[in-house]
Amino acid sequence: MSGGSLSGLVEALRVLPGIGPKTAQRLAYHLLQHDRVGADRLSRAIADALAMMRHCARCNTLTELDVCERCSAPGRDASILCVVETPVDMNMMEQTLAYQGLYYVLMGRISPLDGVGSRHLGLDQLLARATDGVVKEVVLATNYTNEGEATAHYLGAVLRSKGLCVSRIARGVPVGGELEYVDSGTLAQAFRERKTIEP
Ligand code: ZN
Repeated sequence: MSGGSLSGLVEALRVLPGIGPKTAQRLAYHLLQHDRVGADRLSRAIADALAMMRHCARCNTLTELDVCERCSAPGRDASILCVVETPVDMNMMEQTLAYQGLYYVLMGRISPLDGVGSRHLGLDQLLARATDGVVKEVVLATNYTNEGEATAHYLGAVLRSKGLCVSRIARGVPVGGELEYVDSGTLAQAFRERKTIEP
């Protein structure tokens, strides 16, 4: 391979999860040879999103606003805060129509194998959000994977120590299950049957 810009593109594509050197090369050649219009659209879309998207000051999801539409929507129950791993999980909870409270999006999970510990989770922001004096119950809706369970366990202990009622969505979600792939009926049931975490 020759050309600094080509190798630069291949290297840049490797920031995507699951993209190794061979796939990155294939994608780079595809964009340059078969879809230059698409490549231009992709580069503009990335630049636009980078310039426009930020984290919601309340729930931490990605939004173009300082406070996202969901957090500023009237009529939601501010006394209950649902903690999820990703914005996709938040959308899944919304689709159940079983939940009318507010959210906090971790944008990750505790994953020791990937070197992600509790320090990386923005815990201070979650604690500030959960102890605003309005929130009474925190529902932990992290995935039923090892990492999601470890995250729920850790957050449960910290939040309980602040005097909050903490619950965990029920095991209607299968072991090893990621919320993203659970049908909304199952997720709604898991929410309704959530269990308070006892000390
Ligand atoms: Zn928000």
